[in-house]
Amino acid sequence: MPKYSICYNPTHLLIPFLTENMRFLITGAAGFLGAPLANSLVADGHSVVGLDDLSTGDPKQLVDAVHLERGDINDRPKLWSMLQGVDCVYHLAARVIVPESVLYPREYNTVNVGGTVTLMEAMRDVGVRRVIFISSGTIYGNQRLQPVRESNRPNPRSPYAVSKLAAEYYIRTIGSLWGIETVCLRVFNAYGPGQRLPLTNAPVIPYCLRQALDNGTIVIHGSGEQTRDYVYIDDVVEAMVAASSVPDINRIIINVGSGKETSINDLVKKVLEITGAKPEIVANQSHDSGPSRMRADLAIAKKKLNFSPKHNLEQGLLKTIEKDSRFQKK
Ligand code: NAD
Repeated sequence: MPKYSICYNPTHLLIPFLTENMRFLITGAAGFLGAPLANSLVADGHSVVGLDDLSTGDPKQLVDAVHLERGDINDRPKLWSMLQGVDCVYHLAARVIVPESVLYPREYNTVNVGGTVTLMEAMRDVGVRRVIFISSGTIYGNQRLQPVRESNRPNPRSPYAVSKLAAEYYIRTIGSLWGIETVCLRVFNAYGPGQRLPLTNAPVIPYCLRQALDNGTIVIHGSGEQTRDYVYIDDVVEAMVAASSVPDINRIIINVGSGKETSINDLVKKVLEITGAKPEIVANQSHDSGPSRMRADLAIAKKKLNFSPKHNLEQGLLKTIEKDSRFQKK
């Protein structure tokens, strides 16, 4: 028997919101965050269709029950057909590498901003009622006050961060014009098994794990005292799942992080402690190391999603090593 809860609808009617046996579309479903989200929704008994151009995603990470279609987020006819019968969309498809966005801002604008507008138009045309947008903590940039609250004035420092902020504005504006419920989750530095590990611009945690376990060299940019909020993937998935089932979050922006800040120097120390490795550590003081501090305020996440992260950094790192064969000693 499906369960319903009452939820605010911008047409000023109270309508029942289906919370079981829902049909989801996930854009970017084959990605690092998209695949575990899709698998988790399927495990909860929902039906999931995924759209991904497989530019970075890996379809092998998805369980068979997820129906994946290869395609571009700017393909409106494809979206029209994939959105039929969908109750809620998770929008994750994006280009995600900050330094790459500095070199190719137009491409980041086309996919991350243009793709979001295409999706919202298609949702309007088909009449889909709710979208959860996975935004990013990078939109905050340098902030004097920490932890950063959703009400802080964004200060994006890269075309990637600008594209996520512009997409947030489009989502919320088009959503309110056409009666589509919208939620923006500003995810901080997510990490965990399955995270991409390209040769250049690798995310910091898999980079440090690989270099440590291969007895390579870890390059620390800047002073190493800059902090980030590292949040384990299972906690992010929990927040994303909650966002489609709780009522009263229409048009809300919610931080998703660990609520803790860790400097790069401390992260490297922790990686060495856990792995027992002794890689060479090299400092590159001249490199721009980004904002000096990043720590998510989680008050809204706690209140609205009942979210509290279950993994501290050590637990998250140990689980990453345990579950990701790339980090196991050969
Ligand atoms: P990812 O690269 O693993 O996932 C992005 C997915 O989108 C990939 O599977 C890729 O193939 C797909 N994609 C790219 N361009 C596409 C296009 N034109 N059409 C269709 N699909 C396309 O990255 P991720 O870390 O899983 O990020 C997922 C989302 O979460 C992104 O929107 C990102 O901005 C956001 N986010 C991630 C983090 C993080 O720490 N990983 C933090 C904040 C926000």
